[in-house]
Amino acid sequence: MSQNLYDLLASRFPADRSKPCFLLSDGSEISYGALEAGAAQVAGRLVAEGVGPGDRVALQAEKSPEAVMVYLGVLKAGAVFLPLNNAYTRAEVDYFLGDAEPKVFVTDPPAWVAEAGSAGTLAVSVAREADDLASLIYTSGTTGRSKGAMLSHGALAANALALHEAWGFTPDDVLLHALPIFHVHGLFVALHCAFLSGCPMVWLPKFADAEVLAGLERSTVMMGVPTFYTRLLASPGFTRQVADKVRVFICGSAPLLPSTFAEFEARTGQRILERYGMSEAVIITTNPLAGERIAGSVGYPLPGVELRIGGGEDTGVIEICGPSVFSAYWRMPEKTAEEFTADGFFITGDVGRRDPDGRVWISGRAKDLIISGGYNVYPKEVELVLDELPGVTESAVIGAPHKDFGEGVVAVVMGQGDEAAMIAQARAQLAAYKAPKRIVFVDELPRNTMGKVQKNLLRQRFAGLFEA
Ligand code: AMP
Repeated sequence: MSQNLYDLLASRFPADRSKPCFLLSDGSEISYGALEAGAAQVAGRLVAEGVGPGDRVALQAEKSPEAVMVYLGVLKAGAVFLPLNNAYTRAEVDYFLGDAEPKVFVTDPPAWVAEAGSAGTLAVSVAREADDLASLIYTSGTTGRSKGAMLSHGALAANALALHEAWGFTPDDVLLHALPIFHVHGLFVALHCAFLSGCPMVWLPKFADAEVLAGLERSTVMMGVPTFYTRLLASPGFTRQVADKVRVFICGSAPLLPSTFAEFEARTGQRILERYGMSEAVIITTNPLAGERIAGSVGYPLPGVELRIGGGEDTGVIEICGPSVFSAYWRMPEKTAEEFTADGFFITGDVGRRDPDGRVWISGRAKDLIISGGYNVYPKEVELVLDELPGVTESAVIGAPHKDFGEGVVAVVMGQGDEAAMIAQARAQLAAYKAPKRIVFVDELPRNTMGKVQKNLLRQRFAGLFEA
């Protein structure tokens, strides 16, 4: 039997295809039947244009229902979906196109889908095996060349089924979808949960406070990145009443601050469900739907995922093995070999630990580790202390070149305060080598679209701090 992911998703669309899939802000709807027809048209056009199994189809476009039709149509045609961040510049796009060599590059999905109609539709999906490539996802790659993670039909299906189960999705759900769809979070995590339950989505092109507040009134599940939640909390219109219809608020793609978790609970009575994932494996761990959700922990590995800490210490680099792990980096066999252990575990590059209950706690990226005077400093440990100090909204701790220590600990703090006093306060709680040697105050931390703080930019900016 074919393992084409499209067939699995479509088998769970509502039997009554007139039911809505997309609920749009102007009050109109697009049905599951229309989604299915759109995907069949896209697949028909791709086949007519000579796109065959394994051929890449790139998409860089504004978020729209038609973009989703393109995604599904690519799967249906047996081709490989390659989404590109809208923010990528011409030069960046050139790199991806040169590396992935797509046969088709779609930039205007509504026009492309409309034109596809005349090429005829593809009724039956092209057969695919579980190991066949379904999507190529370029990692956000803050250093070095961006790598294309190869995700198979089987990997995406396994993750989708596990999440659908873990988060208790039913056809009665309504998912608030305000995430971009060029990243695994909005593309696979959110869409697949909705499709597997055949439920509608409140479809927002992007996160805009007023639309999200209105959308929450008719949603049962929200998925977001931490900045979505801080923005909601900053909005006076976000009340317990607005949150009441939502059965679960899910968060990930970047660390959720314990202060945001606490403030959210105080405001709504609900605990945000934090989960952890990455382009190379989609979702890896999640806090429980039923059972305690703990601030700062990303919960337990999903069923089928083996997770261990490398290096023989309590805290170390997280290694994982499981059905959703990517197959390889596109055309980078050496890089692929470097990032898997001899017994087949993927070395995530995230540093963390497991507590006696088996919960996973992440303390940052391995490459963010600071070595100061020969001692390892985990930025997260310092950030947690600083974030509790008055005047601090959020902190990002980095290492800057230092002639005596190799690297000196620098805290970039969003907020205000007195540098010397704050360093003294940090010292009261941290070993001297961990406490920041300098604190710089900024209005905003640089973030990418998924809300991740771009420490590489901070390292560049403050590289000369100890030279002066
Ligand atoms: P990406 O491949 O762009 O999705 O980025 C994946 C990275 O985001 C992971 O390797 C983690 O470093 C980070 N990440 C994702 N979710 C979380 C989370 N809940 N807590 C901390 N870091 C996270």
